[in-house]
Amino acid sequence: MTTHRRNLTPESVRRLTLAAEPWLSCNDCFDAVDTYVETLLSGSPDSMPALRAHLSGCSACFEEARSLLLLTAADDGVNPGPALRRLGRG
Ligand SMILES: [Zn+2]
Repeated sequence: MTTHRRNLTPESVRRLTLAAEPWLSCNDCFDAVDTYVETLLSGSPDSMPALRAHLSGCSACFEEARSLLLLTAADDGVNPGPALRRLGRG
């Protein structure tokens, strides 16, 4: 009987699952995209790899994110350039 795998906590299992399946539905993406845009605009580290993966494969959500980024940047009076580059394809 081995016991060395007891270090596999629910949290580490969740991370493994995320890494193996970095795909969200469009609904999940829609719910999270405003937070993601804020993250990009604030210059914070990209903490949402699953969302990034979705945007790179879904042009509808990518356009949504890009529009939202431009609107939010205009509202906040900030230059959207760096955030657009982080979004990709910008
Ligand atoms: Zn999508």
